[in-house]
Amino acid sequence: MLISFVIPVLNEQDSLRQLGSEIKAHCQPHAHEIIFIDDGSRDQSFSIMEDLAAQDPNIRIVKFRRNFGKAAALQYGFNLASGDVVFTLDADLQDNPAEIPNFLQKIAEGWDLVSGWKQKRHDPWHKVLPSKLFNWVVARTFRLKLKDYNCGFKAYRPEVIKEVRLYGEMHRYIPALANALGYRITEIPVEHRERQFGRSKYGWERYLRGFFDLLTVKMVTKYMKSPLYLFGRAGLASTVLGGAITLYLAVLKIFFHVPLSNRPLLILGITLVLAGLQFVSLGLISELIINRVSSLQDLPVSVEKTVNLPQLERPRK
Ligand code: UDP
Ligand code: MG
Repeated sequence: MLISFVIPVLNEQDSLRQLGSEIKAHCQPHAHEIIFIDDGSRDQSFSIMEDLAAQDPNIRIVKFRRNFGKAAALQYGFNLASGDVVFTLDADLQDNPAEIPNFLQKIAEGWDLVSGWKQKRHDPWHKVLPSKLFNWVVARTFRLKLKDYNCGFKAYRPEVIKEVRLYGEMHRYIPALANALGYRITEIPVEHRERQFGRSKYGWERYLRGFFDLLTVKMVTKYMKSPLYLFGRAGLASTVLGGAITLYLAVLKIFFHVPLSNRPLLILGITLVLAGLQFVSLGLISELIINRVSSLQDLPVSVEKTVNLPQLERPRK
């Protein structure tokens, strides 16, 4: 069995060597490949990766020209991974490779996605608290009860990652997307270690972006087949209500000669009708777009250099 490890790296120079040897020690007796994606590091990360790759052909590395984000790095790694099981983990040593056999055990039991749960977190409270709230909201939105949507440590059957398309900060919602496709998902507690080197790359803004992505993923999973169901429903409700109001006012005017110039209700009625029609047409336009773009494109990234990835090293003609 071949195990792939996809590891996004942004300025993690002090962790990479230890991470590489810990992974090697804990994925025995299986064959492995480690795919490091350098997401625009400005420290020595890439030269250390080059060192590691020169000594070990199972270490494959990609260097992005600039920082494209964790989701883009993971997506790029997923496209390269050829393992029978694909792991993602953070490069900062917070995820402990000693947990690898526990993930494999769950995969062997027949689960398609095994997600880590940082039961005892070693992060400051201003990180843990919003994260708790976030997990609560997301679990309710997708009706998929995971205790930890933010854990980078996960194992996948390859089918899952080949079908899920990532953009924005969408990596957090892979379980929700996979769940919508019908995959079987479980969660296991994992040891979470304190960050020893470097700094966290995220602050509170992640939750703002995370919220917009939540809307997108909800849209994609629930209404991708037919956005008209969403827009049409709202549009129809608005049109009908607005229509009823205008009709009522029209009856007053025509049969009872009530003047309408001082009735704010008239404005409301007309606005509702117009907004409703807009909603319906928005739904129709979305339908047209989805039919055209049947599968979303990969994230736009620019690769500067790769090592141990022969299919990419040839210059493009
Ligand atoms: N990372 C990345 N690109 C980014 C931000 C982060 O590749 O734009 C990597 C980072 O190097 C680490 C992982 O994603 O391997 C998780 O980042 P971090 O540890 O900062 O997140 P936290 O653990 O604080 O949630
Ligand atoms: Mg971390």
